[in-house]
Amino acid sequence: MSNKTTDIDLLVRLNVKELKPYSTARDECELKYAISLDANESPYNTGYNRYPDPHQKALKDAFVKKINLNSRTMNNRGQAPIDEQGELTTENIFAGNGSDEAIDLLIRVFCNPGVDNIVSISPTYGMYRVAASVNDIEYRDVRLNADFSLDSKAILNSCDSKSKIIFLCSPNNPTGNLLAREDILSLLDSFNGIVVIDEAYIDFSKNAGFASLIIRYNNLAVLRTMSKAGGMAAIRVGFLISSKLIVSYLNRIKYPYNISKVSQDIAIKSINENRREIVNQIISERERISALLKKTPSVKMVYPSDSNFLLVKFDNAKEIFKKLIENNIVVRYRGDEPGCDGMLRITIGKPAENDTLISVLTSGERSFASGYLEFTRVTKETRVNVRLFPEGAPASYFSTSIVILDHMLDHIALQSGLVMEIEAVGVLEVDPLHTIEDVAIVLGEALSGLISLKTGYNRYGFVLPMDESRAEVLIDFGGRPYFVWEAGFKGDKVGDFPCEMFRHFFSTLSLSGKFTLHIKATGESDHHKAEAIFKAFARSLRIAMSNKISEYQVPSSKGII
Ligand SMILES: *Cc1c(COP(=O)(O)O)cnc(C)c1O
Repeated sequence: MSNKTTDIDLLVRLNVKELKPYSTARDECELKYAISLDANESPYNTGYNRYPDPHQKALKDAFVKKINLNSRTMNNRGQAPIDEQGELTTENIFAGNGSDEAIDLLIRVFCNPGVDNIVSISPTYGMYRVAASVNDIEYRDVRLNADFSLDSKAILNSCDSKSKIIFLCSPNNPTGNLLAREDILSLLDSFNGIVVIDEAYIDFSKNAGFASLIIRYNNLAVLRTMSKAGGMAAIRVGFLISSKLIVSYLNRIKYPYNISKVSQDIAIKSINENRREIVNQIISERERISALLKKTPSVKMVYPSDSNFLLVKFDNAKEIFKKLIENNIVVRYRGDEPGCDGMLRITIGKPAENDTLISVLTSGERSFASGYLEFTRVTKETRVNVRLFPEGAPASYFSTSIVILDHMLDHIALQSGLVMEIEAVGVLEVDPLHTIEDVAIVLGEALSGLISLKTGYNRYGFVLPMDESRAEVLIDFGGRPYFVWEAGFKGDKVGDFPCEMFRHFFSTLSLSGKFTLHIKATGESDHHKAEAIFKAFARSLRIAMSNKISEYQVPSSKGII
């Protein structure tokens, strides 16, 4: 395979080539433990009193390690793996305030305002056009074929000597499909400018993407983002992978401290978390929902997707859009995009959310998820999210990474009749205690929030036998936390749950939920005792939340013990 070389320097705007970049205080000195009197910062430690690393070294290290690892382990389907050709280094990586920053900077490095143009496809992501307009650059778009495949000849035909960049998006937004590899390669081989491939959705695809071809094509730039599969849209971090020269030009013109320390820290941690299971879950939901949509009468066509959304053609897209809004579901109307007449773009949500979508589309039934309370807590150790669905929802969902905690929370949901979703991400390698505590804090807040919405409720207790064990739980939602615990455990752990944490979990819950909680338990088996406590707590909660005396007498339809 021949390596193609483009004269990048010849493409770069003169003013960019000649400008002297802002030099930060940190650039001029590499001392690690210096007395820093150079940047007019406050010397007093707030955790954030120093400027962040302008080169985002640690962030790029983490990212490039992951990219190299993925390329080595992934089946590249005919692509030459990176390690045959040398691995990528941090100098191949530009880190931006979202990949949107990289899009804007690419245009500013290469395109002379009022003179040059960029070429892209249609329909596609709207930011290429916006960034072009902002920079006074002509934007030429070339329609995709009817099946949304790339017409690379038409792209080349629309290029002239002033065309500096071709923007491609694969998998493409809003069409969801991958562009054919041969078509992209033919553009890389024949276009005398920069070819950008936006791979915001590549993690949802089986394809490895084009990052490994950076070494073969010095005019190739690949965009990646943490906003989609990475689950980090709020921190605004995206990457451009390209030749060292192109990266160095972007670095020349970026704001010196373009990514905050908060975002850098969170991004590094998040890159090192394995999100494969969540991404796989979204992919399997995509396939499940695609199949269900195909059976829905108002649906004319569901396009194949390599992303985390589906492009769907309806008989009456505008009405469907309105009906969904009435049921508290927002999707993206794309009917005004070229080739997308009558189409909605639907992002894949959690199973319960997707089920709600389908039930509204098929039966017109009001959304279950129309009402929920959401509480979130983010600390250095954990991120916890709790949703309560007082009016019900198709299913509860737990993902705390602590198996026994998920199991116990499931008991709380089942026995209390309260549908809930609890997700926690913690630094579990260190210890699960923070996660357990933070789940209790947020669940307590959520319960307290729920109770505050109620007009009448009971204040009862419950006794629950469980084989040789027995648990007695009393709750009083009087608004005053008080905690009594009379239960001991013989061992250190039940599964992966440290026994000392049972008491702490409930005392935290009582404090955070502002309710009185008395727990008493006896028995031989630690597991039975713990389970009895969680179940009795849930039953007690059910009665306490209800204003019907009958709740006290009638056992759950879901079948207790
Ligand atoms: C969502 C999306 C992005 C993400 O941009 P960020 O600025 O990184 O959040 C980039 N490209 C496409 C095609 C997208 O759909």
